[in-house]
Amino acid sequence: MISLGQDEIAKYPFLAEAGQYLNDKGFTLEQFATDPDLKIIVDKAYERIESAAEGKIYNLKTDNSSDKDIILPLNVFSFLIAIVLLKLSGLNTLINRFSLAEARRAEKFLERDLVSDSNKTSEEFAIKIFRDVFSITIKKAGDYFVIPISDYLQHAVNFHELEWKLVNRHVENGMVFLTPHESARLIRKELGGYIGTKIRAANTPPMSKGFEDKVHKLSNLAKKFVVDTVVSTEIPPCIEHAIEALNKGENLSHSGRFMLATFLLGRGQTVDEIAPLFKNAPDYNEKITRYQIKQVAGETGGNRTKYACPSCEKIKSNDLCFATPDCDNIINPMQFGKKRL
Ligand code: SF4
Repeated sequence: MISLGQDEIAKYPFLAEAGQYLNDKGFTLEQFATDPDLKIIVDKAYERIESAAEGKIYNLKTDNSSDKDIILPLNVFSFLIAIVLLKLSGLNTLINRFSLAEARRAEKFLERDLVSDSNKTSEEFAIKIFRDVFSITIKKAGDYFVIPISDYLQHAVNFHELEWKLVNRHVENGMVFLTPHESARLIRKELGGYIGTKIRAANTPPMSKGFEDKVHKLSNLAKKFVVDTVVSTEIPPCIEHAIEALNKGENLSHSGRFMLATFLLGRGQTVDEIAPLFKNAPDYNEKITRYQIKQVAGETGGNRTKYACPSCEKIKSNDLCFATPDCDNIINPMQFGKKRL
């Protein structure tokens, strides 16, 4: 377990042991639910979830924003109470969105702590997070950081942009060079996964009267992410699975999103019909989603290529195939439900 000072715990609150932290500070959960002086923390906790649901990185604001003695504990408590509210609501979509937004918030601090002109202690602490939480050995090399090729490949697999391909990286003696920004970006998915796992593993406390109103508001907030789109009747299991994952607010991989979009476009659905399906993805951004689907549809972008649905073989290699006897040895999901020639 990494030992944390007040500064670090405010930046990376998910590293704290929640119950222990409350004990150390002399608080009980009951107090947050009943003490009117602590209501501000419950309000901030709700705001934190709300901003995550909207895809924003939370930036705590108070009348005393410059007072560290107020802002640091408020940052930690609002995170911990947010988890309590999420657990009480049991809403997976919000938990996923919250985890991703908190990962992006932590990523910002990690990057800042890694840049060469930041103080040495922060830099060492950030390196420690890479090592102790994600088992990545990262070392400073001038203005860059270097990580072993094997670690790089394991994490860069989440990226599809050309710049992340190993052939496009500066590599020396088995080490890949990364800027502080790239180093922090490399572990965003793992950070989100780590935070989500911690939230899911936390015990759900009994409901208190003081939390009821906020939990009710969370249920209403989650309704915004209910998808009503009806997809045509005969769809193969891989596509059904991808839609289910999105509906549950899971982070469908890039190849999964590509498969889904190309399949639905191939079945004659429009960008307007497809875009809402992605509404529950934790990183959903309407503008970007629509742009990406348009690109796949060949309606925008440089070469205006309309992409076809990948083959079953390709989908299998991406771990996205959930074949059933109904698949009947087809070679492309577009053939599902039709007799093979
Ligand atoms: S066999 Fe093809 S259509 Fe069936 S689930 Fe796998 S990828 Fe989808």
